[in-house]
Amino acid sequence: MKTVISVLAASALVFALPAFAGPAPAQPAATAFHVGKLSLVSLSDATFSTPNDGKIFGGDAGPAAVADVLKAAHAPTDTITLSVDALLVRDGARLVLIDTGFGAKMGGALTASLKLAGVTPDQITDVLVTHAHGDHIGGLLDASGQPAFPKAKVRLSSADWTYLQGQDGMADMVKAIAPQVATFEPGAQVTPSITAIAIKGHTPGHVGYQIVSGKDRLLDIGDTAHSSIISLAKPDWTMGFDSDAAVAKASRRETLTELAKDHERVFAPHFPYPGVGTVVASGDGFAWQPADLTAKPGKKKHKP
Ligand SMILES: [Zn+2]
Repeated sequence: MKTVISVLAASALVFALPAFAGPAPAQPAATAFHVGKLSLVSLSDATFSTPNDGKIFGGDAGPAAVADVLKAAHAPTDTITLSVDALLVRDGARLVLIDTGFGAKMGGALTASLKLAGVTPDQITDVLVTHAHGDHIGGLLDASGQPAFPKAKVRLSSADWTYLQGQDGMADMVKAIAPQVATFEPGAQVTPSITAIAIKGHTPGHVGYQIVSGKDRLLDIGDTAHSSIISLAKPDWTMGFDSDAAVAKASRRETLTELAKDHERVFAPHFPYPGVGTVVASGDGFAWQPADLTAKPGKKKHKP
């Protein structure tokens, strides 16, 4: 998605529309699960709605085709609502947060969700950013504009750090977080169990994060796919938030193909909360199978 400023501008423009569009508060929520021996928690921050007007989803297909896909999934056809979530990983002595949601200024619930997980912001040692859009970095600042995770290193790709510094309206954010920022090149191992994976096209330096423990692993796909319905059923349709539509389409299909083939678990920050599941092949696209995170360890279908 776009920066906080762009999202604000976009939501101001669409207030005249009958369906609500833009960011909206979500209930705080923290859902724990495991990847191998690692403890993870999916954290709720907000929701984001956009009308089915051909501007964001399926711009090249048109609203009627988008509505057909939504209808087939028994979803509302006039508005597309995304979750905005973050992921907490206890990686040895490190307490790692991947993405930060919209932030307190925008009414984000991330801090309250962290509290439900028993974590205070000053305990976070590393914030890993998938990309520098407002719904992923807004929470780096608290309601007063100060760093929300004062003791954390903020890790993002060097390409997205450069991209962020060139964005209108982001000078205060850049100035506030600069002392915490440590950039990397995609492919870098950023914590003992987590590697940054280049997934190109959404922003200049967009990455996913591969979390590995023993034989178990999970990929946080960032904004490789936004809608669990449209982005999976029609991965080749354009997505208005992608900075390079052609590259993003290609990497979306490539990534989803690999995930479906490997049955690898996925965390998708914009899929319905808690956003954990697997991607399966379906027709000439894919479908989402949410994980049952309430299952007791002894009843797991797949061994780690
Ligand atoms: Zn996003």
